[in-house]
Amino acid sequence: MDHQSDYARHAGGIARIGRASMFRVGLGQDIHRLVPGRRFLLGGTEIPAEKGELGHSDGDALCHAAADALLGAAGVGDVGELFPPTDAAFKDADSRVLLQTAFGKVKKAGWRLVSLDCVVICEKPKILPYRERIRSSLAAILEVEPSSVMVKGKTCEGLGHIGQGLAVEVVTICLLESVWGETRRKKRLTVHGRNR
Ligand code: MG
Repeated sequence: MDHQSDYARHAGGIARIGRASMFRVGLGQDIHRLVPGRRFLLGGTEIPAEKGELGHSDGDALCHAAADALLGAAGVGDVGELFPPTDAAFKDADSRVLLQTAFGKVKKAGWRLVSLDCVVICEKPKILPYRERIRSSLAAILEVEPSSVMVKGKTCEGLGHIGQGLAVEVVTICLLESVWGETRRKKRLTVHGRNR
């Protein structure tokens, strides 16, 4: 039995307290080539653009980087391992479903998302006009309020392959809280409430 699922199984009750941290951070990164004839997708939102992400799946670099941050924080694998590009099952796959599947593993291990911060680096298109849609889309998948998800667009100032419009890169960081930790925190608040 691995430590994390053991932890989840005892969530709410337990005597394993103090052994594991209540919080974990995770880092994710992904890069996709941009080519004509493909859709430009970020967090499941399609953005009008001359070129889109090349990939075995639909190429949504933001969903992939978010999934890697979550999986990494929970210590339950990575995107390449879970959804290998050699597997025909993931050909043209909707990356929102891949992210949902990855988050399912994270939840099963006893974690919930506190916050996710994302940096999208590309020369074109501009991300800002689509930011709120992207935040809402990711938040719905990850079962948090949109205010817990942030997305920032950056350029490469014309430098390198991203600056030449050949690729989009996404970097993400997330904070997870253990379900048990959340339960304990709420319980403590309730007890303090009664005492007043
Ligand atoms: Mg990818």
